[in-house]
Amino acid sequence: MTAARRTPDELLALDAVLTEDERDTAATVRDMLTDVVRPHVAQWYLDGTLPARDLAIEFGKLGLLGMHLEGYGCAGTSATMYGVACRELEAADGGVRSLVSVQGSLAMYPIHRYGSEEQKQEWLPRMATGEAVGCFGLTEPDAGSDPSSMRTKARRDGGGETADWILDGGKMWITNAPIADVAVIWARTDDGVRGFVVPTDVRGFSVQEVKRKLSLRASVTGEITLEDVRLPHDAVLPGVTGLRGPLSCLTEARFGIIWGATGAIRDSLLTAIEYADTRVQFGKPISAFQLTQAKLADATAAYAKAVLLALHIGRLKDGAYGSGVKVSPELVSVGKLDNVRTALSVARTMRTILGGSGITSEYSPLRHAANLETVLTYEGTSEVHQLIIGKALTGQDAFA
Ligand code: FAD
Repeated sequence: MTAARRTPDELLALDAVLTEDERDTAATVRDMLTDVVRPHVAQWYLDGTLPARDLAIEFGKLGLLGMHLEGYGCAGTSATMYGVACRELEAADGGVRSLVSVQGSLAMYPIHRYGSEEQKQEWLPRMATGEAVGCFGLTEPDAGSDPSSMRTKARRDGGGETADWILDGGKMWITNAPIADVAVIWARTDDGVRGFVVPTDVRGFSVQEVKRKLSLRASVTGEITLEDVRLPHDAVLPGVTGLRGPLSCLTEARFGIIWGATGAIRDSLLTAIEYADTRVQFGKPISAFQLTQAKLADATAAYAKAVLLALHIGRLKDGAYGSGVKVSPELVSVGKLDNVRTALSVARTMRTILGGSGITSEYSPLRHAANLETVLTYEGTSEVHQLIIGKALTGQDAFA
């Protein structure tokens, strides 16, 4: 016997916890993705490509790039609104969400927060429209989880504050690098780690695309080589010295991941429910079997917790509980660790409901699961987040 059905969002009354503006933004982003991404994303994934520059222009028109930043052509929305957009983007594909996260949180954010007025004027308005694409170079072939071991160096060519900088080194796994106009490169200097705003057409800067990925295939990734790259004295970000610069950018980007993971959960769940409804075995739809329902019920419960954690962190970030209560990097680690792990587990389980069909590109759960392997690793691996949380709880630094 069939009864009335509700979607996971309806059952959990999740719309009720968003404002009307947030719901409207979600619908607008979802509609745009239905037009420009969803019909093509499975093929992009198979081909290992992404028309990132064209998409950047589309996303710029909707104000999604540097969405939560103020001024310089940025939309200046709340953090939660940015999160809501990330949820829709990752429901379409994690690689597509990564394009927006890297542009806004990793390339525009450091320029906005630590850049000179000239750097902001030169780059932010064009990056907000998607006319210019940015990337963020922290990881190196031999420095991943431990960025303090980075080898990329910046030295002054001569003395005085107006001497040029010379950069040497390399960066690995850099999202957007092969198509970027500007790279925010973190390098060791005599005074500590500094950030540099590097136009990618400067002499000595080259990028090799990373091919043969099995995860985040609808995303462009590159390895950057810096050989005697000469930059003017004012290419350095004046507002920050030390690893707290790049780490603060990662905290911003991790917030987008916390929300994005909930999009992968929702899309996997909806795909499995729809499939289970039409697939008949043993004389009835597989949705009528208790074991299928148990998987869907557990995934819905996991989805509820993931969204509420994302919302809690978003509301805190927006000052909803008073300006005295701040979002700590450790709380962001809890969100990134748990929502990504949960999303990966749900996507894999939803894939099982699709049986053999679930291993084809026609259905999204396995694509989400494969993407989430990267999301589990980048912006701090799950182990690194466990260590961050463990350190906060025990006072013991277990990193070394
Ligand atoms: P490693 O650091 O070598 O880690 C290998 C394993 O060892 C992991 O399981 C790790 O958790 C574990 N490990 C390391 N240290 C410890 C410890 N102390 N205790 C316990 N376990 C430990 N980087 C950028 O700068 N910009 C980008 O745009 C970017 N985009 C990316 C896109 C993709 C598709 C990928 C795959 C990566 C990207 N990264 C980017 C890099 C990413 O952030 C790193 O891969 C990540 O930080 C892990 O570094 P690693 O790969 O060198 O692994």
